[in-house]
Amino acid sequence: MAHFQGFRLRRPDLSAEVAASRHHCPFCPDRVLVVTPRLDPPVDGSFRVVEGESVLFPNISPYDRRSAVVVLSRAHFLAPEDIRPHHLVDGLRAAQRYLGAPGTLRRRDFGLVTWNYMPLAGATQVHPHLQVVATDRPGRLLEDEVAASLRYRRRFGRSYWAELVETESQLEERWVGRGRHSAWLTPFVSRSVVSDLMVVFPGKSLISDLSRADLEEFGRGMSAALQQLAAEGVVSFNLAFYPARADSANQALWLHARLSPRIHFNPAIGGSDATVWQHLLDEPFMVRSPERLAEALRPAVSDALAGG
Ligand SMILES: [Zn+2]
Repeated sequence: MAHFQGFRLRRPDLSAEVAASRHHCPFCPDRVLVVTPRLDPPVDGSFRVVEGESVLFPNISPYDRRSAVVVLSRAHFLAPEDIRPHHLVDGLRAAQRYLGAPGTLRRRDFGLVTWNYMPLAGATQVHPHLQVVATDRPGRLLEDEVAASLRYRRRFGRSYWAELVETESQLEERWVGRGRHSAWLTPFVSRSVVSDLMVVFPGKSLISDLSRADLEEFGRGMSAALQQLAAEGVVSFNLAFYPARADSANQALWLHARLSPRIHFNPAIGGSDATVWQHLLDEPFMVRSPERLAEALRPAVSDALAGG
């Protein structure tokens, strides 16, 4: 935990980025079906997967053998407070259909869904979009989580994730809320300098395990969390789902998602929050504790989770 003298969040003005990117955006409704590549082979007989406002197509900068983009909205720009549950539900439904199609996932692959929202978080387009990737190399963090979850269960005879949810719900300090299908908390070690939000899906392993009701609850809770964060001045974030391998039976790892706000320490000079500590020394730090973030999110998110 670091302490920055007098640090407070200030909402940066994105209007210049939004205006500059609108004119030639390949994801806007009049271009998306013309300029984006087609799925080969098609999914459910279609060259692109369409769910509500969401459109999925192959990524022209693929991360691995199977790699797709899901455009989430017809609107070129959605401020975080404009991201509604249906954007998330439809986008994730499109991802599920792609990951579930024959030939997308090999047995040892992970089916990942990630989101870089706005340029500060690494987005190359302002128009909101997810990445969907099938890969057997999902990165060190997820591989470590899979191995550690298995070791924990072998050693203690129970799920680390069940214990995490139970312990945090009792301690309450980092607890945000519980719905019928998911548990919401702030992890005690965060990647974001203003702390992360974690959503755990008890007993689920894969994104394809999520039912319509699971997705709708996730959409309601996440939309409420983004509204709260936007009110504080957060207008950029990364989000990732952490699933198990496609083929593993009797999973030790429970599917979870992490939302990690990205901020400018000094909006006046557009500076990133990725410093030498995270980038070269692999040492994340926080200027707001997870307990403070949980306190800020709890009222709105627990209401949204109860509102099913
Ligand atoms: Zn656009």
